[in-house]
Amino acid sequence: MEAALRVFDRHGEREKRHKARLKFLIKKIGVEKFKQLVETERLAIKTQSYPVKELPDPAQTVEHFEPNVTVPKNQYKYDLWLATNTFEQRQKGYFGIFIKVFLGDLSSEKARYLAGIVKKYAADDIRLTINQNILLKYVHEDHLVTVLNRYGFAEPGYDSVADITACSGTDTCNLGVTNSTGLSGVLESMPTDEYPELIADKHIKIKISGCMNACGQHMIGNIGFHGSSIKKKDKVIPAMQIVIGGGVDPSGKPYIADKVIKIPAKRTPDSVRYILDHFLEQGLEGECFNHYYERVGGKKFFYNLLKPLAIVEDLTDTDLMDWGQDHLYQQAIGIGECAGAILDMVGTIINDAKEKLVSAKESVAAGHYADGIYYTYATYVVGAKAILLSEDIACNTHRKIISDFQKEIVDLGKISLDYNYKEKALAINKQELTQVFAEQQLIDAEHFLNLIIDYRNSQQANDGADKEIVESYYKA
Ligand code: SF4
Repeated sequence: MEAALRVFDRHGEREKRHKARLKFLIKKIGVEKFKQLVETERLAIKTQSYPVKELPDPAQTVEHFEPNVTVPKNQYKYDLWLATNTFEQRQKGYFGIFIKVFLGDLSSEKARYLAGIVKKYAADDIRLTINQNILLKYVHEDHLVTVLNRYGFAEPGYDSVADITACSGTDTCNLGVTNSTGLSGVLESMPTDEYPELIADKHIKIKISGCMNACGQHMIGNIGFHGSSIKKKDKVIPAMQIVIGGGVDPSGKPYIADKVIKIPAKRTPDSVRYILDHFLEQGLEGECFNHYYERVGGKKFFYNLLKPLAIVEDLTDTDLMDWGQDHLYQQAIGIGECAGAILDMVGTIINDAKEKLVSAKESVAAGHYADGIYYTYATYVVGAKAILLSEDIACNTHRKIISDFQKEIVDLGKISLDYNYKEKALAINKQELTQVFAEQQLIDAEHFLNLIIDYRNSQQANDGADKEIVESYYKA
């Protein structure tokens, strides 16, 4: 894992954030080349295996308490919850419990309550699930009624149509085009009010992303949405691209959703009604949603079914507003949750290089030479990145940073080094990871960082303004 991470650090995309994923690097260089790079990198990693301690059996750590309530207050809801949110473990008498957490947000008050419950009743262990929920384990069957009777922790419908996954959308994400969270609230309450019979169906999941990047996993939703817009003369309408048929079927076969149609965002609840009504009418007994989707005609059929909602000749003012907003939709870049917008980015990156050097010193002092050497490598790369950005040179992969720094800074005599910077930075996986090598790297990295700091100080003394590239690439 460490070697793979290092390969991504060295070669992976860093500038275009939507491409900053391992999968894009593997697509670019091929899996064989990637494996070869990982193998080479393994030479520089001292720890090749690590003993894993055997954990005690959690069942032994669960205390048994007398239940203080034996009858559920609402038997129907309790039975539904048992069916949708719990499963019996292989360890007899113990249950796993899924807790639905709307949008994955939990207040500190609720979290404290839950922590108390988990400590007492659930083997002091919590798992976060991929659909923004929580899994507790080792809850004794005697405690099922009492454990989660507050704060709505026992809402039925885990992983059903009433359990929506959504990203933060325009609430806090700078890339968001539409508001995913407002829409999510509206859609999540719909099954309870209008389609209670579907709450026990685990094969219809709705997933929402505020843009095509899919942090809300829309392409694996049986019904998915991603934020978009529709232009109509001088108007811009917040819109949702509807995708259908993603996820897995009961046999575990995976599906990627089809892109079906784009409609004004405010009509999204109606699109869900159109689809669910048709499914309830035309779905066969026991048929899962994806099989039904394919049987009735897939993309083409649903395009025609939903087409009336895509007509934008009869727009109302509401159609021009996004969910959770009371003003007309406007496309603009807002302030994201990242604090980068208010920081001196070059200074911040230099501080990052300083931290790498501190970590290098600590590692070498503790005798962890391989780690120390890697931290000196990081000092070289991060320090170089700061200066390249200050010179208006775009930074992307480590490899490019290393060669650009050699070419644009060292070779042009802006910073003078009595060694080849590129060879020095890349020496880490070419040498034996000895104490002597680590100590020499440390001395050289510290000297290098001091040169970087001096260079930046003199830049600021002459002209402190950050160049265009810093402004456009590193604002949140
Ligand atoms: S999918 Fe959501 S969180 Fe991801 S980039 Fe788009 S708006 Fe942001």
